[in-house]
Amino acid sequence: MRQWTHDCDVLVIGSGGGALTGAYTAAKAGLSVVVAEATGFVGGTTAYSGGGMWLPCNAVLRRADNIDTTDTIEAARTYYRAVVGDRTPRSLQDAFVGNGAALVDHLEADDALASQCLAQRSAHSPSHRRR
Ligand SMILES: Cc1cc2nc3c(=O)[nH]c(=O)nc-3n(C[C@H](O)[C@H](O)[C@H](O)COP(=O)(O)OP(=O)(O)OC[C@H]3O[C@@H](n4cnc5c(N)ncnc54)[C@H](O)[C@@H]3O)c2cc1C
Repeated sequence: MRQWTHDCDVLVIGSGGGALTGAYTAAKAGLSVVVAEATGFVGGTTAYSGGGMWLPCNAVLRRADNIDTTDTIEAARTYYRAVVGDRTPRSLQDAFVGNGAALVDHLEADDALASQCLAQRSAHSPSHRRR
């Protein structure tokens, strides 16, 4: 195994969507970041899954003209609980559902990043049915 030494403020293990979003956010805040990936590829499962995010009531959804945008955080929470049940703590579920839109706002503030609504993906959620 190759040995190396590198100082950083934040060490991110893995390079999937969650990891790279964390790495991006830390770097954007001025912290030095190292991303350590176990494989020879960047992107993890996220890269070959299509890279979609399910984050209810976000700005990209509100701008979309081909889906029902009357979704609410409460409805999303109910849906999430029906799918995930008690496999994760409710506080964690609430944090995920309640803060997704703020994450999208944060990412969209960077002109180098762009998101689009994929209506066929949104069909996962009953409240995001195509018009
Ligand atoms: C075809 C397909 C369709 C999917 N569709 C959906 C869907 O519709 N809805 C949905 O919710 N989910 C879906 N998923 C699942 C979803 O893509 C994953 O749950 C999500 O991408 C996981 O993201 P992540 O950031 O947690 O980690 P990942 O993207 O899995 O990345 C983890 C990374 O960490 C690396 N790693 C692991 N251990 C170490 C270590 N010790 N040191 C260094 N690196 C390490 C791995 O090599 C990998 O690169 C789908 C997946 C696939 C493949």
